[in-house]
Amino acid sequence: MVNHDENCIFCKIIRKEIPSEIVYQDEKVTAFKDLSPIAPVHVLIVPNTHIPSLSESSSEHAELLGEVLLAGAKIARDLKIDQSGYRIVVNNGADAGQTVFHIHFHLLGGRELHFKTQ
Ligand code: 5GP
Ligand code: ZN
Repeated sequence: MVNHDENCIFCKIIRKEIPSEIVYQDEKVTAFKDLSPIAPVHVLIVPNTHIPSLSESSSEHAELLGEVLLAGAKIARDLKIDQSGYRIVVNNGADAGQTVFHIHFHLLGGRELHFKTQ
């Protein structure tokens, strides 16, 4: 079942209530280009159901979060950065700078990445 939060910007993107550049979507997962990219490839991959953060997810989400991660690997292949390499990052909470409280995996690539991305 897909739950959504009326006030969540990523739920609105998933439901196409606000525009974004969607690069992949199926019944469980959506991926779209980050509005302020920090690398030539910067895609956000999200579950279609509203989960606020990694720390607020639980074992019931294990399969879904695995599918989000595997969608990242597929998108990396589609965007032809799988050979050059890429990084997938989840920011959780204040110290990591999480600003949108719908869990999202950043897919970064197309340039050499240092361990600190910002
Ligand atoms: P966080 O810091 O929470 O891990 O990442 C949130 C990301 O969402 C940021 O990289 C930011 O640029 C992106 N973002 C915020 N609002 C929007 C939006 O309305 N559209 C898109 N495509 N990206 C957004
Ligand atoms: Zn949401």
